[in-house]
Amino acid sequence: MLPLNGQLSARFESGGLRDRHQAKTQSQPSGTYPHSTGDSAPGSRTEGLVTDTKSKPNLNRRDFFAASGVAAVGAGAVVANGVGAGAATPGIRNKQYAMVIDARRCYGVHACSVACKAEFNVPLGETRSWVEFTEKGSFPSVSRTFLPRLCNHCSEPVCVSVCPTGATWKRDEDGIVVVDQDFCIGCKYCVQACPYDARFINPDTGSADKCDFCIHRVSQGLEPACVEACPARARIFGDINDPESEVAKLIATNPVTVLRPEQGTEPNVYYIGADHTDERDLRVESMFVSVTTHRRYEERR
Ligand code: SF4
Repeated sequence: MLPLNGQLSARFESGGLRDRHQAKTQSQPSGTYPHSTGDSAPGSRTEGLVTDTKSKPNLNRRDFFAASGVAAVGAGAVVANGVGAGAATPGIRNKQYAMVIDARRCYGVHACSVACKAEFNVPLGETRSWVEFTEKGSFPSVSRTFLPRLCNHCSEPVCVSVCPTGATWKRDEDGIVVVDQDFCIGCKYCVQACPYDARFINPDTGSADKCDFCIHRVSQGLEPACVEACPARARIFGDINDPESEVAKLIATNPVTVLRPEQGTEPNVYYIGADHTDERDLRVESMFVSVTTHRRYEERR
């Protein structure tokens, strides 16, 4: 792992957040958002995700909260058996980083969660990556399965479309959904909008926070910390638009699922052999199901 100070500077020096926003703010007249519809090439998946940015004022926290009133987006059940149909479409963007999680290999050791915590100095009680345990059935027919979770770096990220300041966006070069803390006003719209509960407000910064696929590491040819730490090699990371990548081959040769495909977000985290049973299935199937999230927020989303 890179030390925190090192990873932060690497993050900003590698064509990352600060460069991006400096370029945007310098090229736009004042009063416009740093992330405009002009970011997206015609026909790209991100085209039109942020609308009417030209007429919006530059907001600070006080202005924003004075003018706010957008409704939060709720959450529903976790479901499976779907794949983000557009995620692997070649030619639309240069790269789309993705993760395949082989749930058959995961044994819930939490090495990924701990590695993520250490990599980003994640405050106590918050998580960028976590593992849920699902226990279900009745003796002697019982099972415990594991479901590692993180931001899905969706191809249609609702967190981006609800952000009023353009502080979060999907990078054209690799499809990673990022947050610029310098532009985030901590309004929590993205936290509420994400159907996967992948975001939180970092109490140390007051800004939205979440997994960024370890940009500071992958930009130097390393794997994300969670991938490197997993002793079972249950997490595989790579470019889904490269047919020769391991993730592309795994997806091509295995039945895969994504979380909540009905949300239309087209996740780029794929699961092999995952049990997506939820406690809400208890009511439907009269089955004992217990989900432990290992998070401060025990409700699964
Ligand atoms: Fe945004 Fe949530 Fe999708 Fe991540 S999982 S890109 S935070 S909507």
